[in-house]
Amino acid sequence: MARMTDSVCSQCRRERVKLYLKGDRCYSSKCALTRRSKRFAPGQHGERQRKLSEYGVQLREKQKLRRIYGLMETQFSNTFVKAERMKGITGETLLTLLEMRLDNVVYRLGFAKSRPQARQLVTHGHISVNGNKVDIPSYLVGVNDLIAVRDNSKDSKYFKAGLGITQRSMPGWLSVDLDNLKGTIMQVPSRDMIDTDVKEHLIVEFYSR
Ligand code: SF4
Repeated sequence: MARMTDSVCSQCRRERVKLYLKGDRCYSSKCALTRRSKRFAPGQHGERQRKLSEYGVQLREKQKLRRIYGLMETQFSNTFVKAERMKGITGETLLTLLEMRLDNVVYRLGFAKSRPQARQLVTHGHISVNGNKVDIPSYLVGVNDLIAVRDNSKDSKYFKAGLGITQRSMPGWLSVDLDNLKGTIMQVPSRDMIDTDVKEHLIVEFYSR
């Protein structure tokens, strides 16, 4: 299976923005982007400030969004093709499809401190959708779906140690019952409900070249 080989923080340094891939560390002074010596792109020439071409700007925006949600290149471009075929504004549909992934929903519900951690919870079989175990991170949830931590996982050390929601606010399209470790999809999120800081029109332009 293909996987990302860049170190986690170097992905943020490459995009020069926080992608929040490491849970609590991202909100602390240990974050690489808060340290002056690490605020530039990784590599020998990382400190050079090059002016990006139009293509470069579009590419960086695409890479940023892909890295935020932790998708590989092919998965991401397949999601884009799917968004393009659906009704509506392609950039916004792309964001909606990414938000409705099971791993993202587990993160948004506060069951994990980062999307990579949420992905692991799903692949390790700790999550159910409408009472059935689902271990596919890309599984697309729908309105009224009930996402829950499975009963035999609730007593694990991880869930007893506390959840990841404390640093983040709950999006309006979800409702959560943290005591019982379950949440419901109330509606499909519109663009104004998605706080992902990205200019999606640049990504549409990137794929339209
Ligand atoms: Fe990015 Fe988090 Fe690393 Fe900071 S600590 S550079 S936000 S992954």
